[in-house]
Amino acid sequence: MPDRGGQVLRLRDMVTRGARAIGELIREGERSFSFEFFPPKDEAGEEQLWKAISELEPYRPTFVSVTYGAGGSSRDTTLRVTGRIARETSMLPMGHLTCVGHTKDELESILDAFAEEGVRNVLALRGDPAEGPRAEWIPTEGGFEHACELVSLARDHGGFSIGVAAFPGGHPGAESMERDLEVLLEKQRCGAEFAITDMLFRAVDYFELVEKASAIGVEIPVVPGIMPILNLGQVARMAELSGREIPADVRARVEVHRDDPAALRAEGIVMAAQLCEELLDGGAPGLHFYTLNRSKATREIFAALRITV
Ligand code: FAD
Repeated sequence: MPDRGGQVLRLRDMVTRGARAIGELIREGERSFSFEFFPPKDEAGEEQLWKAISELEPYRPTFVSVTYGAGGSSRDTTLRVTGRIARETSMLPMGHLTCVGHTKDELESILDAFAEEGVRNVLALRGDPAEGPRAEWIPTEGGFEHACELVSLARDHGGFSIGVAAFPGGHPGAESMERDLEVLLEKQRCGAEFAITDMLFRAVDYFELVEKASAIGVEIPVVPGIMPILNLGQVARMAELSGREIPADVRARVEVHRDDPAALRAEGIVMAAQLCEELLDGGAPGLHFYTLNRSKATREIFAALRITV
């Protein structure tokens, strides 16, 4: 396995980036390593989040992101956590923002609030209905129907580097993968500078997505999203909720360990590390880890990839 320590050393040598644009950092050719967190709901969750953040900070990620809760429920926490990351850590924060339940004016004031917190990177998303990803999407009156409208708003607002979501095999609500790729192209036209994929289970699905996207003119970097399978039921439920399934070959590899949670977890880490290696070796511009506000699995995958602090 190639030694990736050099990449991390380059990251380590970089001075504090302040409010740099993630799009620019990825375009500059630096391999992007990033960690995603969600807004905690209570004091215990808050403690766990900051523990994970402090344990992952020494890896000098290119950026870290904080999701935006369903139905806009976490607006204040997302703003508070991203602002604190900007002020109190060496890391570059990105706030997720969705169109759910917000008018255009509200979305503009949230962008202002991000800017006031020193957060200059946003992941512009449509979001899902409050009843869940499978429910019918009904736009808020005075709000937006599609993510690309929010991308345009953030671009016109000025001062933001804007990322968007991309879906291996296409978004589950899309007419076809081809139609969904046109949507990604449209997001690029509206001002998106990079994309992050939904959780990936196989490198082949990522390469299919980037090859087809590139063939129709998508030039923005597409960073693969990594979610190791540590608990089969949990990951299967998360995939199912967003209208997807864990591919049978991947499932079979972990399922043999279903009666031994420790062995299943260990296999999940090995598989995720192999996936990361295939992705990087095949030219992926970086890796985005869905951490679920814990650091252990990400640290284990980094160790398997020989990335050290
Ligand atoms: P869109 O790009 O608007 O696409 C939604 C659907 O509409 C797709 O089927 C698309 O093909 C179709 N579509 C889009 N534009 C058009 C058009 N012009 N004409 C016809 N059809 C169109 N959700 C949260 O609530 N909070 C988060 O923090 C969050 N973070 C995420 C992070 C990542 C990396 C990813 C991959 C997803 C995240 N999500 C989050 C989930 C996301 O909000 C949902 O998957 C949502 O269903 C789609 O969002 P989108 O931004 O891709 O929407």
